Amino acid sequence: MTARRPNLKDFALPALRDLCVSRGWPAYRGDQIAAWLYKHAVDSLDEMTNLPAELRSLLAADFELSSLEVVTTQHSTDGTTKLLLKAFDGAQIEAVLIPEARRQTLCISTQVGCPLACSFCATGALGFTRNLSVSEIVDQVLLARAQLAPDEILSNLVFMGMGEPLLNLPAVSEAIRLFTDPKGFGMAPRRLTVSTAGVLPQIAPLLAVAPIHLAVSLHATTDEVRDVLVPLNKRYPIDALLSTLREEPRISRRRPVFFEYTLMEGVNDSIEDARRLPKLLEGIASKVNVIPMNPHPDAPYRPPKPEVIDRFTATLHDAGIRVTLRRDRGSDIDAACGQLANRKVGKAPALDSGAIG
Ligand code: SAH
Repeated sequence: MTARRPNLKDFALPALRDLCVSRGWPAYRGDQIAAWLYKHAVDSLDEMTNLPAELRSLLAADFELSSLEVVTTQHSTDGTTKLLLKAFDGAQIEAVLIPEARRQTLCISTQVGCPLACSFCATGALGFTRNLSVSEIVDQVLLARAQLAPDEILSNLVFMGMGEPLLNLPAVSEAIRLFTDPKGFGMAPRRLTVSTAGVLPQIAPLLAVAPIHLAVSLHATTDEVRDVLVPLNKRYPIDALLSTLREEPRISRRRPVFFEYTLMEGVNDSIEDARRLPKLLEGIASKVNVIPMNPHPDAPYRPPKPEVIDRFTATLHDAGIRVTLRRDRGSDIDAACGQLANRKVGKAPALDSGAIG
C-alpha cells in the first residue's frame, strides 16, 4: 500500500471552503472546486480554469482527485452496465448502471465485502475487508456518469451494492450530503435509496441526514427463518425492527419504507408467509419489493417457480400491500442482485465470488 495524499472528494463542502480559507483564499473558491469536481467531473486541477493558477498548483501538490479506476465495463443485452472498479489498495468493488424507461439508476457499494454474512448473499461469503471512503463512494457515481450518453442523466441512486451502508454511516452520510447539496451533485433526496439489513440504532441518524428513501431487507416473516438468512436478526429481531420503523416519524406515506423480500423456493415463499407479511407491516407506510432469488454458487437457494412467485405477490396485493416484482436485470453479465463481483476477472481471490448485496 502506497502512502496517499488526501483526496479532495473526501472533504465535505464546508470543509472545502475552510481548506481554501486556511490557505489564504476566499471561501467561495471551495464552492468553485466542488462545481468542477461534481458538476463538471474534471480529472485534474488544471481543468479548473476559473481558479488562480497559484491555488491550482498548491492543491495539485497536496491532494488527489480520484480514488477509483475502472478495471472493466460489461454491457448486458438488456442495457445494464456493470463497472468493476479498483481502489488504491487493489480492493475491487462494483457499481451497476440500470437504464429504465424514464430514469437511469446506479447501484453503488459502501464496503469492500460485508460483515453481515447473510446466507443467500454472495457478498456474505466474501467476508469484510474495509469500509469505503467518501471519495470512493462518490467516484462510483462520477465514473458511472461518464458512461452515459450526453442526453442521459443519472437520476437515481440505490445504496444496494456490496456492504452494509449503516455500518459505514459517517462516510455514507457525507456522501449523501454531497449528492444532495445544490453545490454538490444537486440530486433530489427522494431519488436516493439506502438499503439496510436492519442496523436499528443507525436508522434514525441516517434519516436525519436528508429526506432520502429507506429500504429494509426483510426476506422472512419469522425470526426462525430470518435468523438463518440474515444473522443480524439475532441481534435485532423482526419485532424490534418493525417497531423501530413504526415509531420513526420520518417514515410516512409520502416517504414509505421499501421492504425487500428475496423469494427463495421452500424457504420463505409459502402462502403462510404471504399472509403473515401484511400483518407484520400494519401501521408502517410501506412498499414491498419481491425479488426472486438470483442463484449463485455460494448459496444453496433457488428462486420459486413462476406460479409460486405470482401467488405470493397476488396474496400481498389482495391484502392491500403495494407490491412490485423486481425484474432481473443484467443477469447475463452477473450484474443482477446477488450476482456481482469480478467472478470472471477476479485477480484478488478474496473477491472472486462476491456479489452485490
Ligand atoms: N446490506 C444492505 C445493502 C445490500 S442490498 C442490505 O442488506 O439491505 C441487499 C439486497 O440485495 C437484498 O435486499 C436483496 O434484495 C438483494 N440480494 C442479495 N442477494 C441476492 C440474491 N442472491 N438474489 C436476489 N437478491 C439478492
